[in-house]
Amino acid sequence: MSAAVDLLERATQVARLKSMISVAIAARADDFDAAGELPADVLSLCAQEGLFGMAIPTGHGGIGLDPRELGEVFESLGRASASALSLATVHVMVCSALLRWGSAAQKQRWLPHLASGGAIGAFALSEAEAGSDANAVQTTLRSESDEIVVDGCKAWISFGTIAGLFLVVGKLDGRIAAILVDRSTPGIDIEPIDGMAGFRAGMLAQVRFEGCRVPRENLLGSADFGLSQIVGSVLDHGRYSIAWGAVGLAQACLQASVDYAAKRRQFGRPLQEHQLVQQMLADMMVEHRAARLMCLDAAAARANRSPDMIVRTTAAKYVAARAADRAAAAAMQIHGANGFSTRYPVQRFQRDARVFGVIEGTTQIQQVLLAQHAPQWADGLKEFF
Ligand SMILES: Cc1cc2nc3c(=O)[nH]c(=O)nc-3n(C[C@H](O)[C@H](O)[C@H](O)COP(=O)(O)OP(=O)(O)OC[C@H]3O[C@@H](n4cnc5c(N)ncnc54)[C@H](O)[C@@H]3O)c2cc1C
Repeated sequence: MSAAVDLLERATQVARLKSMISVAIAARADDFDAAGELPADVLSLCAQEGLFGMAIPTGHGGIGLDPRELGEVFESLGRASASALSLATVHVMVCSALLRWGSAAQKQRWLPHLASGGAIGAFALSEAEAGSDANAVQTTLRSESDEIVVDGCKAWISFGTIAGLFLVVGKLDGRIAAILVDRSTPGIDIEPIDGMAGFRAGMLAQVRFEGCRVPRENLLGSADFGLSQIVGSVLDHGRYSIAWGAVGLAQACLQASVDYAAKRRQFGRPLQEHQLVQQMLADMMVEHRAARLMCLDAAAARANRSPDMIVRTTAAKYVAARAADRAAAAAMQIHGANGFSTRYPVQRFQRDARVFGVIEGTTQIQQVLLAQHAPQWADGLKEFF
């Protein structure tokens, strides 16, 4: 009975979030893109509707959505605004890291604050010389009695301009470690990054830490867990969000193209009656569908804590990012010259879709990871033949 009530409550929350996204975010996404930021009223609305607590259990002040429900919200965000999607992505990455690796004291201190939107979480891994190769980070975490001194410079930090809590990846005694750093800590310098081509309202920053003293208890996980566990699991959450967001963006491309191809006439008939345009629409349709099914497969794997959930999530992100990229390119093509005008959203879709192939592991890095699992997948298929 109480499980059924929980389910109903969560379904209501998801419906409210989707409605808020469609009314307050989708309708204004082009304005956010032009302004290069998400305005304060939108951030307040997200907080009010529980967006910042969606991955946090009710016991810690969130609404505790399950993987499928979370996926649907990410999908709505991707359809509305890739920048807003990235807000939810990085925030959920930090919340999930705390839930998985945080001590009881860390959870008690931070999760309610993150759930209410009192602090926005940002993930600070990338550096000038450390992109795909996360192990190359040069940020140092130096142990000094009961403090850790953080020194380093992080690049491309989404929502770094407004984040209240940074999950910083650095090297402690030569090994990868992750630490929570409060924005108010002395020694942090935040420099906004303007002029991004995609995710323009992602409020990116370069974040420099200079002799930044953080209590030792802010280290996440034990020293035995480093790159593969903590960073790997944070990126896994990021990939799950981006996979669903890419499906949402692919849907937006399909919808814009269907509408345009029905109205625009050339050679005496609507574009949708020209076979080569039909080919583009057909490809968009099936690639969107295939990507969505892969995301549902990843959601099921995550809900069951299946041993292959990470690889199924990676596969979903890989397929969905490519589907969004191809859909955006086709949408631009179908719109002709109008596609290049800011009067139509497809130029934003195209700029944003390119980013999906770069963040949370580039397309090439996903290919490398997936290929490593190809033998097991092939083995698993034998039972069907
Ligand atoms: C909009 C946006 C938001 C971002 N937000 C964040 C954030 O919040 N936090 C954060 O830490 N970072 C963030 N990043 C950075 C992002 O994570 C990195 O861009 C990404 O990890 C890739 O690193 P790189 O850009 O240095 O590319 P590189 O690693 O230099 O790669 C360049 C090219 O080489 C290819 N390549 C590299 N290594 C291999 C290999 N072994 N095999 C085959 N090909 C390879 C890549 O696939 C790519 O095509 C963001 C980036 C963008 C664009």
